[in-house]
Amino acid sequence: MGSGPSTEDIQRNLTTVNNRIGEAAVRAGRDPRRIRMVAVSKTQPVEVIRRGYQAGLREFGENRVEEALPKLAELSDLKDIQWHMVGHIQSRKARLVAPAFGMVQSVDRLKIARLLDQHAKRSDRRIPILLECNVSGEESKSGWNLFSESQRQAVIEEFREIANLESVEVQGLMTMAPWTDDVKVLRLVFSRLREVLQFVTAVLEVEWQELSMGMTDDFEVAVEEGATLVRIGRAIFGPRTVEI
Ligand SMILES: *Cc1c(COP(=O)(O)O)cnc(C)c1O
Repeated sequence: MGSGPSTEDIQRNLTTVNNRIGEAAVRAGRDPRRIRMVAVSKTQPVEVIRRGYQAGLREFGENRVEEALPKLAELSDLKDIQWHMVGHIQSRKARLVAPAFGMVQSVDRLKIARLLDQHAKRSDRRIPILLECNVSGEESKSGWNLFSESQRQAVIEEFREIANLESVEVQGLMTMAPWTDDVKVLRLVFSRLREVLQFVTAVLEVEWQELSMGMTDDFEVAVEEGATLVRIGRAIFGPRTVEI
């Protein structure tokens, strides 16, 4: 039956993660039902994703178009899966992403938003998207730079243009936290994204509500700071054996 986690392993991990999400939500006085979990299945073979499906998972995240498309095709019999794109998208790949993914969480520049809009139109779709923000100030991170308040004004005009595109529907913001186990730093980054969402929705008068933040090592802090979507790989499927 191949290697990797069994359906039972995934089920057990899922229960643990859901309990931890629930406890973090309660600590913050939040309704745990407002938090969705996306199982990040990058590097996982389709058999493992099928076991995840059997364990009850329906939302999966992939970060590379070339890796994802053959997997999506092989799993196309599982009709109620929702696929999330969570990785950087090269411009020339936008036309492949538009018809394939239920949500694109990693829209990290204006050009990609425009391209997805064009290709969504051709596929006769309206694609839910999140705008990826860099709120940690790390230069290596993709996304709009929103480390300081002075950067907010510059970014807001681009967000306004994207909000007005017809075939993409912005639902909120996404961020990646820095590599640290310093809870204070993590909390600052996640709370900054929440503040940016408040600022943007007030200025643009839009109803964006999603905050995608939190991964295996930091999702509880993210939930405490308002995450509505967490993206979890290793805590569900175990350590990745393929490096990315
Ligand atoms: C890999 C990845 C995740 C999940 O990471 P884990 O640490 O395995 O939970 C979440 N978001 C993005 C964008 C990723 O690339």
